[in-house]
Amino acid sequence: MQSFFGKSVYKGIVVGPVVVLGKSDSQVRRKKIEDTDLEIKRVEQAGEQAREQLQKLYDKAVKEVGEASAAIFEVHQMMLEDEDYLDAIHNMIQTEKVNAEYAVAVTGDNFSEMFASMDDDYMKARAADVKDISDRLVRNLSGDKEVDLGNMEPAIIVAEDLSPSETVQMDKEKILAFVTVHGSTNSHTAILARMMNIPALIGVSMNLDEIHTGMQAIVDGFHGEVVFEPSEELCDTALQKVAEEKEKQQLLQTLKGKENITLDGRKINIYANIGNVGDVGYALENDAGGIGLFRSEFLYLGKTDFPAEEEQFQAYKQVVQMMAGKKVIIRTLDIGADKQVDYFHLGKEDNPAMGYRAIRICLKQPEIFKAQLRALFRAAVFGNLSIMYPMITSTEEVEMIYDVVHEIKKELEKEQIPYKVPEQGIMIETPAAVMVSDELAEMVDFFSIGTNDLTQYTLAIDRQNEKLDDFYNPHHKAIMRMIQIVVENAHKCGKWAGICGELGADLELTERFVRMGVDELSVAPSMILKIRKIVREMKAG
Ligand code: PEP
Ligand code: MG
Repeated sequence: MQSFFGKSVYKGIVVGPVVVLGKSDSQVRRKKIEDTDLEIKRVEQAGEQAREQLQKLYDKAVKEVGEASAAIFEVHQMMLEDEDYLDAIHNMIQTEKVNAEYAVAVTGDNFSEMFASMDDDYMKARAADVKDISDRLVRNLSGDKEVDLGNMEPAIIVAEDLSPSETVQMDKEKILAFVTVHGSTNSHTAILARMMNIPALIGVSMNLDEIHTGMQAIVDGFHGEVVFEPSEELCDTALQKVAEEKEKQQLLQTLKGKENITLDGRKINIYANIGNVGDVGYALENDAGGIGLFRSEFLYLGKTDFPAEEEQFQAYKQVVQMMAGKKVIIRTLDIGADKQVDYFHLGKEDNPAMGYRAIRICLKQPEIFKAQLRALFRAAVFGNLSIMYPMITSTEEVEMIYDVVHEIKKELEKEQIPYKVPEQGIMIETPAAVMVSDELAEMVDFFSIGTNDLTQYTLAIDRQNEKLDDFYNPHHKAIMRMIQIVVENAHKCGKWAGICGELGADLELTERFVRMGVDELSVAPSMILKIRKIVREMKAG
């Protein structure tokens, strides 16, 4: 039994099997050994195991995709018998007195490089195969089970770190919890965990060499603790907590269908934040009054090329149709900073959070922006859609956006394509936008305060930098005052102002936000009923 603590980003508890992701052979350590015969024997056993695994994969593939495509597993089996490859491994163990894992990984790299540098295309293609075989042997040697993300049972994902594009590709039904060595509380992986209603611990200083796929674990988001291979007794206590939590959740369900209204009659909208069409299910399940933030950039992540206008149109249309007349606020592309996509070729920047991102990309590369706006305008015909623009710093930017909007209108009219120019709001997530929010309020239909970025830019604290978590005070007076200024400036112009950053779901602040006059809170779906409960039990005063 091994236990570690980390920062919890969602309070929940689960018990389940572990899947370790992204263990690369860079983590294979060189160790000095005495008994070389034993290491060679271990390689043989790992090879035997690999042969059985490959046979199973071959049989499965023949059934599912046919003999021709399954042949690759035969090639792998043959490679396992290759004398040059095996001799090189044995020789390294004997002469250098190193552990089997290290000898296999280094030999795999050497052979792979050799194949890759050959002229013959067939041999070149073998480079990836020999690497694959070596990875399999290393996995077998270290006792890790193979992970088939598409076919795995629901599991606790353990990793060094997870990027937004990795998390977005995972099958959410299969994830019980996240536990990562790195990551900050405001990272998009953390946001995703909250959205999915699953416990997540970050900054857990565990040694991934000692954690293996297939182990059992308890992830306790209430105490920020993960326990690997827990005792039976601990498991029982955890399962009891799981049952208690379920009961609490069921109690909250009684609030479904009720209004978000204080005891003295003040109403507030509670909407959901989503990242893709599939998340609408979470929003509906939790009785969201609408979608307050659809992070449209998630449509671009995990892809190899830009999603076409048509693909985007279908996605937006589906969301507004599923929300059946309820408001759906789609934020235009907010790519850049931690949300990197290869095909954008953004290049390396010293300060990506303060760099080429979001609306800046859209204004500099209008062809990308236009495709999205066209898709949005077309989808607006099918429901209650609004658009909001991220990372605004000035009135001039809004004017530039409106020029593009005007062009799109003319284009669609000319092409006789049905469209509607939706309500347009902006995110207030830079201190500059706060300072000119009086002027911005005259130009737009609404404000949505992005406290994640607003806090990082105001406190000069990189939201991705876990070292700064101790300095990160989301309740800082400066932020509270800024929110107040923004709400007042919106109201002076008859516009509404909401919060869609993570702070909107901070239950310690709900009453304060309502009293400040915040009109809308857009939060992870799992937080909606919890906020409703507070609103219904308070007085706005
Ligand atoms: C924010 O910055 O608060 C926000 C909602 O946007 P994101 O977290 O996607 O940057
Ligand atoms: Mg932001």
